[in-house]
Amino acid sequence: MVDWLIVGAGFAGSVLAERIATRQNQSVLVIDRRSHIGGNAYDELDHYGILYHKYGPHIFHTNSQDIFDYLSQFTKWRPYEHRVLAAVRDKLVPIPINRTTLNRLYGLSLANDAETAAFLATRAEPVAVIETSEDVVVNAVGRELYELFFQGYTRKQWGLDPSQLDKSVTARVPTRVNEDDRYFTDTFQFMPAEGYTKMFEKMLASDNISVQLATEFFDIRDKIPFKNLIFTGCIDEYFNYCIGKLPYRSLNFEHKHIETEFFQPTGTVNYPDPGTLYTRISEYKYLTGQSHASTTVTYEYPSSDGDPYYPIPRDENLALFRQYEALAAQEANVHFVGRLASYRYYNMDQVVGQALAKYRRLFPA
Ligand code: FAD
Ligand code: UDP
Repeated sequence: MVDWLIVGAGFAGSVLAERIATRQNQSVLVIDRRSHIGGNAYDELDHYGILYHKYGPHIFHTNSQDIFDYLSQFTKWRPYEHRVLAAVRDKLVPIPINRTTLNRLYGLSLANDAETAAFLATRAEPVAVIETSEDVVVNAVGRELYELFFQGYTRKQWGLDPSQLDKSVTARVPTRVNEDDRYFTDTFQFMPAEGYTKMFEKMLASDNISVQLATEFFDIRDKIPFKNLIFTGCIDEYFNYCIGKLPYRSLNFEHKHIETEFFQPTGTVNYPDPGTLYTRISEYKYLTGQSHASTTVTYEYPSSDGDPYYPIPRDENLALFRQYEALAAQEANVHFVGRLASYRYYNMDQVVGQALAKYRRLFPA
């Protein structure tokens, strides 16, 4: 009988396994239906020896000293600030929209923050109550820039118009009046020096932790005795979709190896154009700092079928999630943690924070 069965070897499952095994000295069995640890952050060397991310580009960023310190026990870091260009009107311009974006796109010479803010004010279309992902952007930059940078990308990424999505989705991407072209502005922006998978291996190294891969929870739930369960998969699947299916958005990843040192000028290029089927291309060598004569990139093609990657933030989905959450609260000794189980559009650091908070509630000091 194990003390804890943990379903999912991603951030949520691995953080809780590490804490419970090393701080409480209790036995933990971590299972994953995939054949590897790390969840969606899994990385590996490809056939050509290039470190790539199997489930698309993962860049670690956080404002939390605690979360950074926690993960620093398991990895050294490589400083990395992600920069993204958007392919619009035959140009590559910075996204988030900043002063450089506007100058290049419109042939302007906006010289400072005030001039840029004044320019944006002439284009912005104020929205009285900001509710949707369309409202956020139109309110800040007006309809033309919204259509150019956000509408097509969002329709592809989510299969929905931005007007059908909660404001929190496009609000992830700010508008800037300065020339800061970093994608994130968090205090800590790093990549694990030897990759994510190596970091997960260290997190799961305790003798109190066993890991069983290629193992489906629903096949073994009645066969492996456990005292407590932590479930980090889809909450609707756990309950056999008894109130209906929660929509999750999927992606198909096309990994391509190219015999050139660098394929594109920056880590990620976004393609908001509705005529291009993929949303973005990412080139790992920028993220990892690896030196290699050739390169590997990933194209992301959004899809409604396939592995669940993104909860879809809109009111009706949240309402259905709340019903599952009520069922979850009635399950004795079962805990739901992570992006899929919480149906929240969490970044990696937020999942680590959520898992650490869950640990503190399970074992108050
Ligand atoms: P997951 O990593 O999804 O882990 C859950 C695990 O549970 C999976 O491995 C799954 O196989 C397993 N599982 C589920 N159900 C079962 C079952 N029934 N039986 C057995 N195993 C099961 N975040 C950032 O901070 N920065 C980024 O740059 C970034 N980029 C991203 C890019 C993409 C394309 C995607 C999809 C996400 C990105 N994220 C990024 C978000 C990040 O991936 C998540 O926040 C994080 O990986 C979630 O961790 P988790 O443990 O909750 O879930
Ligand atoms: N987005 C967009 N155009 C862009 C970048 C982002 O429309 O060039 C929108 C899109 O809806 C996307 C959301 O903003 O899903 C959040 O972007 P982010 O880069 O945070 O997405 P993620 O990395 O989580 O896929």
